[in-house]
Amino acid sequence: MKRYSVFAIAREAMRQHQGWEKAWASPAPKAQYDAIIIGAGGHGLATAYYLGRNFGITNVAILEKGWLGGGNTGRNTTIIRSNYLQDPSAALYEKARGLYENLSQELNYNVMFSPRGLLMLAQTHHEVRGYLRTVHANMLQGVETRWIEPAEVKQLVPIINIDGPRYPVLGALYQERGGTARHDAVAWGYARACSDMGMDIIQQCEVTAVRSKNGQVEGVETTKGYIGTKKLGIVVAGHSGQVAEMAGFRLPIEAVALQALVSEPIKPCMDVVVMANTVHGYMSQSDKGEMVIGGGTDGFNNFTQRGSFHHIEETLRALVETFPMISRLKMLRQWGGVVDMTGDRSPILSKTPLGNCFINCGWGTGGFKAIPGSGWAMAELIAKGEPGPLAAAFGMERFREGRFIDESVAAGVAH
Ligand SMILES: Cc1cc2nc3c(=O)[nH]c(=O)nc-3n(C[C@H](O)[C@H](O)[C@H](O)COP(=O)(O)OP(=O)(O)OC[C@H]3O[C@@H](n4cnc5c(N)ncnc54)[C@H](O)[C@@H]3O)c2cc1C
Repeated sequence: MKRYSVFAIAREAMRQHQGWEKAWASPAPKAQYDAIIIGAGGHGLATAYYLGRNFGITNVAILEKGWLGGGNTGRNTTIIRSNYLQDPSAALYEKARGLYENLSQELNYNVMFSPRGLLMLAQTHHEVRGYLRTVHANMLQGVETRWIEPAEVKQLVPIINIDGPRYPVLGALYQERGGTARHDAVAWGYARACSDMGMDIIQQCEVTAVRSKNGQVEGVETTKGYIGTKKLGIVVAGHSGQVAEMAGFRLPIEAVALQALVSEPIKPCMDVVVMANTVHGYMSQSDKGEMVIGGGTDGFNNFTQRGSFHHIEETLRALVETFPMISRLKMLRQWGGVVDMTGDRSPILSKTPLGNCFINCGWGTGGFKAIPGSGWAMAELIAKGEPGPLAAAFGMERFREGRFIDESVAAGVAH
């Protein structure tokens, strides 16, 4: 595949951009692969990429029922951070954040990683204590975060009202190298790199059944026919329960819709990401100028990918007190994604009752930030058949053993 570079842009400009290659191929499925990954979201594509990059396994198919990146990966509000409380989570999310730093260079694809700084506002005394505890934990984990006082919050976010009557800003947990990346580009960059290694990305190909014998997967039935495989990775986020059922096991997981919305584009007014967990909303400004606003999950299980009116009302009502200027903005569009929630709000990277079948799910409202680290750890699990140090704590047996990785505070507000 031809590299993207300033010279390539100049060359193509001279010939009316007629010479660009397709970023990835769209082949028909082969009869058999060394590994199949179900789900071409960020996590599935990153898993395939690191299988090739780190383990030389390239006879791989990634099967996607819709279009690649069309699930939660293309629907999220793109927040990247690693300020988690528990050690295994901090290690995994910090690995991912570190890989994001050079991902554009690594993939030769601009994923627009923007470490613009992330603030988690403390608006109650309980939150102050909680975030101070997280700062201390992060210090021990080697994750760079710090506590900042209200005056510094105001300096970083001039549009904020720190003296709100109900929820004044009492400080913030600040991660300077947290930020955002372009979600589609992350999926597209990994897809292009996978295709370049000879992997097959097969879109419009839904897995409808998993065929197994003597505790081993033999292949999958799909809307494009039967495909055999030596190993299977299930990476389907909100549809994990259904695909696990096809493979004959149950997951401690539930699916709910999580919603977000964007405003009309306005001039640059906020160059950091702000999360306000008490009032339950978070906001950043996109490169186009839209205010990207995330709210909460629906209070009931469902598989809709739509927005609903009461969420706009609830989320904006929550944010308006802290950001009065957004009361004058028109909202442009809203949407939803189907997220996969575990009881301890931590992911599952795990072996399954089928010997050659592995599952990656449970990222819930906050898995975009984890994509590179999750792909790295999942590839190791699939290649070696055993979890490496990053994935070891995230096996699903933890729910049977009562060994939870409780991140309900870190993941308390969506994302
Ligand atoms: C509104 C919203 C805001 C969010 N904000 C953030 C944020 O700011 N920061 C953050 O870190 N995270 C955020 N998240 C969470 C994040 O988007 C997800 O955790 C992450 O994208 C999950 O990626 P994935 O690859 O596992 O899943 P997906 O991108 O959903 O990919 C799974 C794929 O599997 C496919 N699939 C399902 N069933 C089958 C089948 N039977 N056969 C074939 N293919 C199948 C689906 O079509 C889908 O494309 C947000 C999510 C939402 C919905």
